Amino acid sequence: MARPDVSRAAIVSVGNELLYGQTVDTNAAWLGRVLAERGIPVVWRCTVGDVDADIVDAFDAARARADLVLVSGGLGPTPDDRTKPVIAAHLGRRLVPDEGARRDVEARFRAAGLDAVPPRSRGQYDVPEGARALRNPKGTAPGLLLEEDGCTVVLLPGVPQELRAIVEGDVFALLDGGGVTREAVRHRVVHTTGIFETRLAEVLEPRLASLPASLTRGIDLAYLPDLGGVDLRFTTRDSDVGVAGERLERLVEALEDVLGPWRFEAESGDLAEATVRALARFGRTVAVAESCTGGLIGKRLTDVAGASDVFLGGVIAYSNASKVRDLGVREDDLARHGAVSEAVACGLARGVAARFAADAGIGVTGVAGPAGGSDEKPVGTVWIAVFLDGEVEAFVAHFPGDRDSVRVRAAQAALAALHRRLLGVERR
Ligand code: ATP
Ligand code: MG
Repeated sequence: MARPDVSRAAIVSVGNELLYGQTVDTNAAWLGRVLAERGIPVVWRCTVGDVDADIVDAFDAARARADLVLVSGGLGPTPDDRTKPVIAAHLGRRLVPDEGARRDVEARFRAAGLDAVPPRSRGQYDVPEGARALRNPKGTAPGLLLEEDGCTVVLLPGVPQELRAIVEGDVFALLDGGGVTREAVRHRVVHTTGIFETRLAEVLEPRLASLPASLTRGIDLAYLPDLGGVDLRFTTRDSDVGVAGERLERLVEALEDVLGPWRFEAESGDLAEATVRALARFGRTVAVAESCTGGLIGKRLTDVAGASDVFLGGVIAYSNASKVRDLGVREDDLARHGAVSEAVACGLARGVAARFAADAGIGVTGVAGPAGGSDEKPVGTVWIAVFLDGEVEAFVAHFPGDRDSVRVRAAQAALAALHRRLLGVERR
């Protein structure tokens, strides 16, 4: 079959389990990513149950919107697997045995120790007339490829490993063949933390508008927030991958002065990784004194491979007694200012650095809730101190959300504070 000249894809996901929410549609997400990388954006997606009429409706809607239609699921041998017979009948094509598929299916059953293909599985080598069977190295249901009215249709089994193996094999071979270059989609993600999405847009949008069009043309920006911060995803397309990458880099560089105080670089997207790398780069060690985060910061740091070079240890100083006895916090500070205070956070940071003979110390003390808040120190009030090279700096934050969110946000803010101190960037 000749290489199809496709430019827009649509995906139909079939399966009651997807509608019930028992299975998350990772197939469609994965297809969206790998097709975009090949310059074939997915423009439409639809999920239906194992119901003949719904499969037909979705299939026709997909064909009306795209020249490549991928259907995931329902290719297996059980009665609830409807995709193949339903689409074949809808297109007026008989099901006929395919020799290649027969050999593949027989070989798979032989490899599994069976002499003959069980009767129920013999339907696996039937294909709609004119369709091509796509090799499935991970299972018995072959994928199917057919052309109908200028639309390329690919039917794929729902099992993710099988779907991926077929797409990475026969489907990509077909789409990539023929030497035609498509505009591939490239992303550049800039991670930020410590600034709200709306505030980020307020500083970023005027800046983007003021830059020359040569820097910004054809680049889309998405704001992707979560508990730890906001990821900025810049996206562009170019037939030359290198050129696309350079354009994205140039734009990100031009935004450095507004993003600098908030951004961090980490392959995993995790600020703890960026912090461990920064400690290593500047030859500094760290220890942590955690009250309300209960070890979360130590956990985050030790999640990073290579943390042992820079992370010396920590104390979960949850009680006042521990803060005094283990880290040298002054009883007088506790009595005068309370456990959640600047004096105590600074005492924790300084004390833990001394105790572990570390260059840096983090101290965190706060009210995670749900109880324990007061008018003066409501739930979500957290004091964070960073001691580095003999100097301690502290700030208070008021985090929204439940106990869990407050703790996660506090750990992130503490790591961000150390990261910024190490890089010498001023917080605005
Ligand atoms: P099989 O030959 O195994 O029967 P099939 O094409 O019939 O393949 P389904 O029965 O639809 O596939 O799904 C098989 C399994 O694959 C399901 O149990 C489900 O967990 C998983 N699955 C199905 N669709 C998806 C999807 N869109 N994303 C992720 N997983 C899926
Ligand atoms: Mg099935």
